[in-house]
Amino acid sequence: MSCLFCKIIEGSIPSTRVYEDELCIAFADIHPHATVHLLIVPREHIASLAEAEPEDEPLLGHLLWVVAEIARQKGLANGYRTVINTGDEGGQTVDHLHLHLLGGRIMHWPPG
Ligand code: AMP
Ligand code: ZN
Repeated sequence: MSCLFCKIIEGSIPSTRVYEDELCIAFADIHPHATVHLLIVPREHIASLAEAEPEDEPLLGHLLWVVAEIARQKGLANGYRTVINTGDEGGQTVDHLHLHLLGGRIMHWPPG
């Protein structure tokens, strides 16, 4: 298996885990762009949002709920940003679906 995030999920590559359940894990981004910068990653290998199938719809909803739950746990009551980069033009660099949770500073719009 060559996928970086699959290796993090199985534990052969270390990460700073902050949350896990039967469907996903969350860990600290190695190059944080905010005080809080976490990645929420499904245990199932889905290459990107563009590869999601109709049967993945409950999983996709769960991932968003987990973002909100972790944000509550981290005390991000003033707000936060959730990002899914998809494909080359979307800025995706790791081909395993993941949600970025960024918080602890003011975010700007539009993103670069
Ligand atoms: P994306 O560009 O949306 O595909 O995001 C991939 C993210 O994975 C980037 O923000 C990287 O900093 C992060 N990343 C890459 N390698 C690791 C790693 N070993 N542990 C944690 N985060 C990583
Ligand atoms: Zn993977």
